[in-house]
Amino acid sequence: MTTWTELAKQHDLKYFLVAFVDLFGGMRAKLVPATAMDSVAKSGAGFAGFAAWFDMTPADPDVLVMPDMDTLTLLPWKPGVAWVTGDLYMGGKPVAQNPRQVLKSLIAKAAEQGVELKTGVECEYFLISPDGTAISDPADQQAKPCYDQQALMRRYEIVAEICDAMIALGWKPYQNDHEDANGQFEMNWEFDTALKTADRHAFFKFMVKSIAEKHGFKATFMPKPFANLTGNGCHVHASLWSTKDGSNVFEDEAGELGLSKTAYHFIGGLVHSAEAVCAITNPTVNSYKRINAPRTLSGATWSPNTVTYGGNNRTHMIRIPDAGRFEFRLPDGAVNPYLLPATLLAAGLDGMANSRDPGPRLDINMYTEGAKAPKAKQLPLNLLDALRALEASEVLKDQLGEVVVGSYLKLKHSDWNEHCRQLTEWERQTTLDC
Ligand code: ADP
Ligand code: MG
Ligand code: MG
Ligand code: MG
Ligand code: MG
Repeated sequence: MTTWTELAKQHDLKYFLVAFVDLFGGMRAKLVPATAMDSVAKSGAGFAGFAAWFDMTPADPDVLVMPDMDTLTLLPWKPGVAWVTGDLYMGGKPVAQNPRQVLKSLIAKAAEQGVELKTGVECEYFLISPDGTAISDPADQQAKPCYDQQALMRRYEIVAEICDAMIALGWKPYQNDHEDANGQFEMNWEFDTALKTADRHAFFKFMVKSIAEKHGFKATFMPKPFANLTGNGCHVHASLWSTKDGSNVFEDEAGELGLSKTAYHFIGGLVHSAEAVCAITNPTVNSYKRINAPRTLSGATWSPNTVTYGGNNRTHMIRIPDAGRFEFRLPDGAVNPYLLPATLLAAGLDGMANSRDPGPRLDINMYTEGAKAPKAKQLPLNLLDALRALEASEVLKDQLGEVVVGSYLKLKHSDWNEHCRQLTEWERQTTLDC
């Protein structure tokens, strides 16, 4: 077996970042010198769990991260340093509310049924000033800035450095563009297994933020950083593969839009649990200013407000762009990279197990013709509504686990309560003269 010391020699590494992602999606790490890595890996890198978002107490023993060599990722922008993550243990037991372990447990459930989820994510982000108050490029002013070549090329140094890094890491990136909001970008790499994509999604955020900072800017994945601009989505594309013969079980040439019955049941599961799923995929107070948003300067929000699906139509929660896969457009930039596919699987496996019917496909512009679908469910209007839907969802509690859902709800409710304690300028303006 390879030792960490050997790995360090092989890749000329001085340090390892031993990292994990907590329930709020924050990445935390210890920077371990290569000289100590073998002993740290044996006992685990220790953290006070209470200091992260895990719903632990200061009286709990240390959380230990057991680094997994399969996750080794060399930092392209910081030679000599590598990133690793792995399972978390506390008091000799796996940490049930660790998002990565939650995802692994859902992957295992899918495997019991002979299927494996593959995902591709589209992590939109803004490049902004270091203090976070404005977009980074004052010249980026077009009313319809999507695909703006000039603005894209003014940020070539950053975008190309990130893309070069993805090439070096073997992620197979294939396109980069300026997105629909001034200051907003998207970079796409090829889909893979849900776990691999989740690790890459988490690492991508770290990498984009780091490279932006290196160039004197800041990158944000915040769902709606500017009220009049399109927000940061995190669309996820999904397909399901047989572990027996390697075929895509979502694909059926004879099926509607090239999707199989299984795919429609999976979609039916997402439609069934959508309001509860929203609490995970749209996890912040700010998230609800992206969905249900008024039209932006560019003329569209690009985010859904109803629980509906369509063909290659970007006004619905689910879009079927191609045979054998669908796109789930609800998640935003604040979504936890691991809880995203875990929740997708949770809702989808339930849909398959119960042959859930997604209802009819809607071939209408949902923004302008929504009245034609009066029975369509509305997405939650705010975080509290979504949390209550999650609380009421036996499906998600059962599939994801009571522990993680319980901890998540507790922490997010306290977030909501904190939000409610804020006195806003709008309130003063509209109520001072009451
Ligand atoms: P769009 O902007 O049209 O929604 P993008 O090209 O930005 O699409 O992103 C598409 C994502 O979907 C990529 O990560 C791509 O690899 C992924 N993808 C393509 N086919 C599949 C598939 N069969 N299963 C899962 N993901 C897929
Ligand atoms: Mg200390
Ligand atoms: Mg895209
Ligand atoms: Mg996009
Ligand atoms: Mg998309």
